[in-house]
Amino acid sequence: MRTSKRIEQLPPYLFVEISRKIAAKRARGDDVISLAIGDPDLPTPRHILDRLHKAAEVSANHRYPETDGLPELRRAIARWYQRRFDVVLDPDTEVLPLIGSKEGIGHIALCFIDPGDVALVPDPAYPVYAIGTMFAGGESYPLPLTDENGFLPDLDHVPESVLRRAKLLWLNYPNNPTAAVADLPFFQRAVEFARRHDLAILHDGPYSEVAFDGYRPVSFLQAAGAKDVGLEFHSLSKTYNMTGWRIGMAVGNARLINALMRVKSNLDSGIPQAIQEMAIAALDGSQDCIEEHNKVYQRRRDRLCAVLQEMGLRVRPPKASLYIWARLPDGYKSGDFAARLLEEANVVVTPGRGYGPAGEGYIRLSITTPDEQVDEALRRLQAWIGKQGLKR
Ligand SMILES: *Cc1c(COP(=O)(O)O)cnc(C)c1O
Repeated sequence: MRTSKRIEQLPPYLFVEISRKIAAKRARGDDVISLAIGDPDLPTPRHILDRLHKAAEVSANHRYPETDGLPELRRAIARWYQRRFDVVLDPDTEVLPLIGSKEGIGHIALCFIDPGDVALVPDPAYPVYAIGTMFAGGESYPLPLTDENGFLPDLDHVPESVLRRAKLLWLNYPNNPTAAVADLPFFQRAVEFARRHDLAILHDGPYSEVAFDGYRPVSFLQAAGAKDVGLEFHSLSKTYNMTGWRIGMAVGNARLINALMRVKSNLDSGIPQAIQEMAIAALDGSQDCIEEHNKVYQRRRDRLCAVLQEMGLRVRPPKASLYIWARLPDGYKSGDFAARLLEEANVVVTPGRGYGPAGEGYIRLSITTPDEQVDEALRRLQAWIGKQGLKR
């Protein structure tokens, strides 16, 4: 039996590797605390769960859903975008529900990329942008996100030879893993860049509602002309603690939405309708839960940042996202640092290198771990660092 080249080329999925290491340690009886994965620990709000219970009893929901989702869900998504961002969407042509946004992010390369085509992909980044491109036979050209450029890609220095083959530009703000944010003028420049070079922009924005200190992230679609050149992926996962239910959406350019819908109609059979009803309840219902969750995250962020700074790591308290992106002192490799922290202190963080070469020298900590465990992880970190005498 011979597997495909694309399977052989596949790097190990970062989190699968980490989960395996944690499982092995736990099997040995070690009490491991993970700050590695961005997966809200708080439950899905009650009013959303109540809707699921009711929807489970409706026999129409026991049957195949439509690929393009319930019209009522598409309308709820359009209403939410209008209320939150003042962005107007046609629910019939500019909105497509997804089985979690990762599903659409992974599949959309099939709409654009032929063998030899290029996608411009930030580095570090959520791994799915580059992997989807590879699955479609394309190549990724990395756009480094660094402290010096504010973790925004430098669009003016992409070589002409790359631009000629490029079909796509991936963006993601608030950013995972760097926690950087982008403002409207940046998105405006990106739209102009896409027009100039005949590219599509795919903006991944699942953290727009996870923000602190009163900061309100913008949507890519608020930029003038954004809908002419691109799509935004969004998700119920981080906004409403719904990672386990798997529901998200793509919104924006009607031609792209239609292309993605046609790909999906050949691969999946839609989102369970009871879960689509949960999403309607979430989008149309009270949004107070968002502020409540953000208060919890903000408290954890402040505690973690204070201890990390004491430890000699350079961190900027993030304005948004579920992550802290911490710079290691010079000379430390992120993989070694994370491996030793797990081995010697039973605390898991993600090595920045796992998100791309430009992530080297950083670790990512998530703020989705319960408070008591965050406190215990911080005690362990302090003790471990104390023993190291970390170089500054
Ligand atoms: C969590 C996350 C997603 C995926 O969210 P789902 O809707 O749960 O699939 C997409 N992009 C980024 C950058 C994420 O961090």
